[in-house]
Amino acid sequence: MRRLLLLLCTLCLSAAAHAETFIERLLDRRVPGGVAVLDLGAQAQAPRATFQDKPVMVLRDGERWIAVVGIPLDTQGGPQSLQVTGGQAPRMSFDVGTKRYAEQHIKLANQRQVTPNPDDLRRIERELAEQQAAYRIFTPGTPSNIYLDRPVDGGRLSSPFGLRRVFNGQPRNPHSGLDFAVPTGTPIKAPAAGRVILVGDYFFNGKTVFVDHGQGLISMFCHLSAIDVKVGDAVPRGGVVGKVGATGRATGPHLHWNVSLNDVRVDPAIFIDAFKP
Ligand code: ZN
Repeated sequence: MRRLLLLLCTLCLSAAAHAETFIERLLDRRVPGGVAVLDLGAQAQAPRATFQDKPVMVLRDGERWIAVVGIPLDTQGGPQSLQVTGGQAPRMSFDVGTKRYAEQHIKLANQRQVTPNPDDLRRIERELAEQQAAYRIFTPGTPSNIYLDRPVDGGRLSSPFGLRRVFNGQPRNPHSGLDFAVPTGTPIKAPAAGRVILVGDYFFNGKTVFVDHGQGLISMFCHLSAIDVKVGDAVPRGGVVGKVGATGRATGPHLHWNVSLNDVRVDPAIFIDAFKP
């Protein structure tokens, strides 16, 4: 009995010392391409926060307000700061660590997907602008769930987020999302409730769907064989948005899933408890 009491006391003490919440334990990964969960205090009114001039998600977590901040992949390790309005302090500093991402060499049979021609480049630029605008959308409201569901049943995680890719010997942008190796036709389910803000058929991404989950948390699914939604549709958690395929620049059927926070692409693995430090 005495031992049990002692154990309970130790647990209380450690909880008080860290005051770490469930959200922090799961999502707080302060590395480039990761997420910082910051305590903004317990005041009645919700504070507002921005990071690098972009609005940031603020949620109620028990008694307190927390900011859930996406950290860009190209961030250098070191101090960063969040601007806060209506909080306990106008600025909150936090430290970003470092993370080493692997490199992958990929052979593409279609050389045009490695070195696009001038017409392709004009198309790519237009499509990029359209997608960048979608990532900047910030709507009020709290996401239905902040720990996301896997968008496909089963399937090994193939290419991880942040992979530095070299196509036919040419270095290209690092991998902005997480790949699931699943067959063509596998239904893709919304990992949280949301609204469809963009659909398209793009040069690199192929058939693509963007879902806004609220407060800058946005999912993008691409290389689809079929799209089952249109812009403006409300999608429930688990609602099917399309089917897995290999459209665009893909070496075979898989689902590519991006997760964006404050217009920053972060590692989706964090949100499904599959993060590898
Ligand atoms: Zn991918």
